Amino acid sequence: MRMVPAPKLGSVDMLQTDDQRLTDRINHERSRYFAAGQWSGPIGITAAVGFYAVIISSTSNSPGPLRWWVGAMFLFVLLQAGAFLVPLAARRLDNRGIPILSDVAYSLIGLGWGSVLWLDLDASRATDVRWVTLSTMFAVSAGVVAGISGVNFLSAAVFLPMWAGAIGALVAIGHPTTAAACAAFALICFRDLYRSGYLWTELMTLRVVSHDVAETNLWAATHDPMTSLVNRSSFLLAVHERAAASNSPITVMFIDLDRFKEVNDNLGHAAGDHVLTEAANRIKASLRATDLVGRFGGDEFCVLLDPHSDASAADRLAHELIEALERPLDGPWGPELIDISASIGIASFAPSDASPERLLLDADFAMYEAKRLGRRRVVNFGSELEAELSARLGLKSDLRRLIREGLLEADAQPIFNLRNGAVAGVELLARWRLPDGTAVPPSVFIPLAEELGLIGQVTGLMLRAAADRLQAWEGHPELGQARVTVNVSASDFTDATLVAAVAEVVAEFQIGPGRLVLELTESLDVA
Ligand code: GH3
Ligand code: MG
Repeated sequence: MRMVPAPKLGSVDMLQTDDQRLTDRINHERSRYFAAGQWSGPIGITAAVGFYAVIISSTSNSPGPLRWWVGAMFLFVLLQAGAFLVPLAARRLDNRGIPILSDVAYSLIGLGWGSVLWLDLDASRATDVRWVTLSTMFAVSAGVVAGISGVNFLSAAVFLPMWAGAIGALVAIGHPTTAAACAAFALICFRDLYRSGYLWTELMTLRVVSHDVAETNLWAATHDPMTSLVNRSSFLLAVHERAAASNSPITVMFIDLDRFKEVNDNLGHAAGDHVLTEAANRIKASLRATDLVGRFGGDEFCVLLDPHSDASAADRLAHELIEALERPLDGPWGPELIDISASIGIASFAPSDASPERLLLDADFAMYEAKRLGRRRVVNFGSELEAELSARLGLKSDLRRLIREGLLEADAQPIFNLRNGAVAGVELLARWRLPDGTAVPPSVFIPLAEELGLIGQVTGLMLRAAADRLQAWEGHPELGQARVTVNVSASDFTDATLVAAVAEVVAEFQIGPGRLVLELTESLDVA
């Protein structure tokens, strides 16, 4: 599936990969490999020829170093075999066992040949020395060229005739054991015909696959797998990159589907997923190639607009998006069509004025304002909302401090027994009074505490206040049996720590558990 072209995030290509890309990469690797082979072959041959030229000139008159050289060759063959064996043996012994077996044969032949030379060499015969030297040169050159360059026809076209000549000459001068060892190496040339091609393909595929795995991991880390859009962190990175690149204004849109939970509740999560994917596709289809859209999570999407979009273009685009999202949607859930709509918040800033995080917060706030005003609308973040948001952020930070310091107050509302007019108990209500004496209503600060993830601590404070009161009433003639009620939010009920918190205060204050009443706030949405 092709994605809408999007900006690059650093080295991350935000386009989704496809089959063609893999093929292109293999072709690319193939050409690189051939390019490397073109150089490594001649370099290998030149190095080998130079090396043996030195050996021949030094050994023809002085047999002393010859044995060292034969020993070195023996080691070389073993090392070469090992270099092929280890990586191949480390891989699965699957249906491609033949090259591994041939490598075992290669190392055994190398071992045998080295031993033969080591034991049988008549170092006093200068002609033997030359022939052995030459034949070894062929072997090593064949290994270098076939193994490194992977151009397997060289093994047959060039080295096989050389080997044939070497074998014939060795037999003619009466050195049949070495000739037999050379024949074994001639066989290796045939083997190389197969293996060099195989190795080449293997190496190339391994490179491509490992690269591909890395790219796939990168893609997974930067994208939402369901909609294939970039995820929140990549989106934020893109906004940061845009802000760092220039100081011209940046505009983002925050889109949240309206009443999306109902789709999940009525038709199931699979239908919900389908709606999210379709919404993502519609948003992408309505955007320009230079806009970037990301999924923030849940039913929230964010758009980073093209740098040349002004406020009116952004507004126009947002209305187009609302229209595009509104087209009824059918799907695998049955004959019903789903109507979806969206609320959109837009915010702009010049990078020198604020941070990208703040920009997204502003757009999010504008989106919530759109929800508050009745949904299915676009709200631009302006000075009024800015003042409201600052007040809200101030409230949040005050509330955080208040809860941390345990300073939230608990007002007691008495509950009377209507039969005898006695106080049956009290209901504790969290109260927040500002230093100037005004009260922040619970309808404002309780949702704030939930948003901050601090509602559990609010409940904990109220539980302690209740326990305190119950302990103080112990033995009191009228209140000794009274109950204290504490409100708990729906999110407390889904939080496993509530039971532990209740058990802790009951144990610590030694109160009869029947005297502590927990009341679920009815207005809260448990879903
Ligand atoms: P509102 O108009 O206020 O936005 O109401 P809403 O019902 O859309 O509520 P909200 O945006 O808060 O809820 C989003 C829901 O999306 C909450 C969650 O259950 C659901 N959700 C989150 N991620 C996924 C997902 O990957 N697939 C599905 N099917 N649902 C999801
Ligand atoms: Mg929603």
